[in-house]
Amino acid sequence: MAVQTAIRRFNKRFRRTVSFDYNDIDEYQLEITTYCNAACPQCPRNLSGGNLNPYMPLVRLSREAIDTAFLPELCTRLRQIFFCGSYGDPIMHPDFLDILRDFRKKSPELWLYIHTNGGVHNTDWWEELAHIINGYGKIDFGIDGLEDTNHLYRQGVNFGQAIDNAQAFIRAGGKAQWNFIVFKHNEHQLRTASILSKIIGFENILFRGTGRFLNHETLEEQDTWKVTPRKADPYEIEVTSIDEYRNSSMKRLNDLKAEYPDMKDYFDSTPIKCDACMGNKVTITAEGLVLPCNFFEHNLYDARFKDRNTMPGANDLHFINNKNQVEKFINTYGKDNLNINKYDLQTILDNNFWNDLIGSWNKKLDAGRLFECAFTCGQKLTKVWDQNKTVKNTYRYYITGNKRGLGLSLSEYFFADGRSRVDGFDITSDVEAIVDQSVHYDVFINNAFDGPPDEAHANYAQVNLLMAVYKRWKELNKTGWIFNIGSVGEQSIVAPDPAFETYRVAKAALSHASKQCTAGFRQGLVPFKTTLITPDRLDTPLSRSRDSWTGNGIDCEDIAKFIEYTINVNSNTVIDEIVLYVNLTHD
Ligand code: SF4
Ligand code: SF4
Repeated sequence: MAVQTAIRRFNKRFRRTVSFDYNDIDEYQLEITTYCNAACPQCPRNLSGGNLNPYMPLVRLSREAIDTAFLPELCTRLRQIFFCGSYGDPIMHPDFLDILRDFRKKSPELWLYIHTNGGVHNTDWWEELAHIINGYGKIDFGIDGLEDTNHLYRQGVNFGQAIDNAQAFIRAGGKAQWNFIVFKHNEHQLRTASILSKIIGFENILFRGTGRFLNHETLEEQDTWKVTPRKADPYEIEVTSIDEYRNSSMKRLNDLKAEYPDMKDYFDSTPIKCDACMGNKVTITAEGLVLPCNFFEHNLYDARFKDRNTMPGANDLHFINNKNQVEKFINTYGKDNLNINKYDLQTILDNNFWNDLIGSWNKKLDAGRLFECAFTCGQKLTKVWDQNKTVKNTYRYYITGNKRGLGLSLSEYFFADGRSRVDGFDITSDVEAIVDQSVHYDVFINNAFDGPPDEAHANYAQVNLLMAVYKRWKELNKTGWIFNIGSVGEQSIVAPDPAFETYRVAKAALSHASKQCTAGFRQGLVPFKTTLITPDRLDTPLSRSRDSWTGNGIDCEDIAKFIEYTINVNSNTVIDEIVLYVNLTHD
């Protein structure tokens, strides 16, 4: 209960919801079936594209169970229902259109989002689907190649049929995106696929860099994966050779292992940024189990946890006394107690399971931290989230000076990682180490100042650090955002004592350097964006403690919101500076 209380206090402070409270959850992911027409080699519903996974239950969530669980008043407040499963494709559910109609009847504007391979039904069915969605929803079609390549991964899906179905859906008014996993065998087709997607009318084509070649036991990425179809000869699929489409975490894997010679140390210590919590969402499996995410369901039924030779294997840390840790955790609370076929959603979300899950993230592995959470939602091995960099709430943040003042506030807001002098890191002397860290993150906030400003050692360290990060990110052709925390003090002499000039001049230099880096993106020299944030006096415990405090300062949450806004502007746009002033004598 203490954890939940702390989280509520935190929410109140930042007006963000980070709990699994029934009233806060605004998205449910529904796996309505574990049946599928396809046999993708890296999907856990089958063994490398061949026989069915014998441990997976073949089940469907009934229309009645869904109808009972999702009361009209719940549907009207939800943001989204996401139809996507660990083991099945929603279009295989015989009642799928009726299930959608039920939701639409309860809430005309509820966003209905679907992931599918698009490979079954005729075009009439897809037109009807568009009419039911009625503009409030979207479909992502998983089509990994063209006529001669799609079936190498989406075994069992006819490319022409999937394209016809997508086209029928779009012509009937449906919004659609093409998701294309890039492999060696289809990497020569990206341009053609982009053109085709425009002709058909997809809103977008997303080229995904898969992390599924990672062997979870050895933590090595394999170059190839052997496909063993049921009725054809085995063949291999390979990781793409195009650097831009390789999974970013896989590219950084060796650096991570160099930093943590024993990877258990990483899994033990990495802050966990729970995708479910951050997105205010939970998942419901085809059996009716309410779980935080698909990864928990994988732990229950993926063959690799039962027979460790099944690719991509399982890490030793998934097990405690030979028992799967997540499965044991779920069983402690009783599967029935988490099942919508037995209880209503509010009762299920009131179960201690959820508080104890949140509480586990602050523990060490030996004391109950769930390895799956550290593996999937840690800060530096982010292979799942690197596949789709348009989902902004999966971004990882790194902040210098993260232990007090603005740095601490931003850290709490973004669930960021970072370093400060408290940890023995100093931006004047540990530039290389901080640069090494920065490459693992999407957003780098250059916040710490090398002051105090009247000290001789103030040596433009913020500028030096910016230049070093810029140089490394440029070498790596890395995408992301750099934010530099400047000060309006650079625009005027802040004190009569000339010693304070170090502060003013250092912040003025940072302003100049930051804008040069911004120009780097504008001129197409680098793919990442740089923004300067120039605040007046901040409202932090530190500034409140000073004699000069007048009761007025910039709310740190406002700065966090500007950072969010900056990240969300169009991909071709960069904001070079945000300036915030405060009326120091405001009543
Ligand atoms: S289409 Fe989806 S559910 Fe079906 S086999 Fe492929 S990844 Fe698995
Ligand atoms: S793996 Fe753990 S931390 Fe990640 S989304 Fe699932 S419950 Fe949350």
